[in-house]
Amino acid sequence: MSEDHEGVRTGDDPTKAILSESGLNSKHLCDYVVNVATGCRHGCKFCYVPSTPNIRTRPDMLEEEVDVENGQKEWGSYVLYRDELGERLDGHLDRKRKWRETRRGRGVVGVSFSTDCYMDGRSGKITRNVVKALTDHEKYTRVLTRNPILALQDLDVFQTAGEYVTIGSSIPCMDAGQVTAIESNAPAPEHRLRGLKEFNKHGVQTFVSMSPTYPTQDKNNLREHLERVAECDPAVVFHEPINPRGGNFEMTVQAARDAGEEKLAEELDRLRNRERWIEYATNHLRWVQEIGQEMGLPVHLWPDKQLIKHVSDEEQIWLQSWRDRQSPEEFAEREDPASPIPNIPHMSV
Ligand code: SF4
Repeated sequence: MSEDHEGVRTGDDPTKAILSESGLNSKHLCDYVVNVATGCRHGCKFCYVPSTPNIRTRPDMLEEEVDVENGQKEWGSYVLYRDELGERLDGHLDRKRKWRETRRGRGVVGVSFSTDCYMDGRSGKITRNVVKALTDHEKYTRVLTRNPILALQDLDVFQTAGEYVTIGSSIPCMDAGQVTAIESNAPAPEHRLRGLKEFNKHGVQTFVSMSPTYPTQDKNNLREHLERVAECDPAVVFHEPINPRGGNFEMTVQAARDAGEEKLAEELDRLRNRERWIEYATNHLRWVQEIGQEMGLPVHLWPDKQLIKHVSDEEQIWLQSWRDRQSPEEFAEREDPASPIPNIPHMSV
């Protein structure tokens, strides 16, 4: 184990996993995932990863390799890298005969959804080999990173991969103060957008994930945000509101407060009231759909299952239709027999 200049404990990940089937097809993202590391130095407060089995079920490994006592509480302060993953994946794909392709996941491989694959130089090196192995085997590859500027070092790999790769970033809001408050170590939103614009300029397909939008954003803010996001000409803009669940949410509110973002902390705190959360979440989904349509932007909503349970029948049909249909991207496209999206119902909240 060693500790770097940012105070992050690093080591080697002994995990044998190479390519795993994923439930992220429910979000129209992928059927498989490849994760280049365990742990993520960005340490976003709302991150769901530390509460997944990947972290929860491996306390011995975390303690042994990076001296971590509590993988959840210490999230953001440790990373175990899988340095040889690209080479192992290459061999694995040579041998693999069956490939899973669901209607919503399209057989796509997500890199990486349990860590940021370009969080630093070492992870970037692994990612380069992973993307190369996947696209050399003609597997559609969806790269998600909050640091697309660093990913530009591999522009040659992305350009060679052509239609087999798309790169996206999570850009929930353009206000750097608010974003940095709860995504403490990740690059600022302008930086993320700049990286995606560069990829787009060089002919690489892009996507944006507005996930999660903040309760401090009103309709005008969301419009301005979508106008900015449109600058990278994304093939799709995914959107979801925040869901105030679990211990991570407490940490998110506290982090906003600690960073002096009082308004954000206050508005997040109000979401603990279910009626307020339903109002905010349905409004954001409705506004993003409306503005996206007006702008001709390919938007795709991710409504939460819990939210669908608590809205009117008409709203349920509207929101469920988004869960059932494919994203509007041409990337790895398959035929979609789903019916068109019903119009947005009049809101009762
Ligand atoms: S970048 Fe992604 S994986 Fe990393 S801490 Fe943030 S949300 Fe979690």
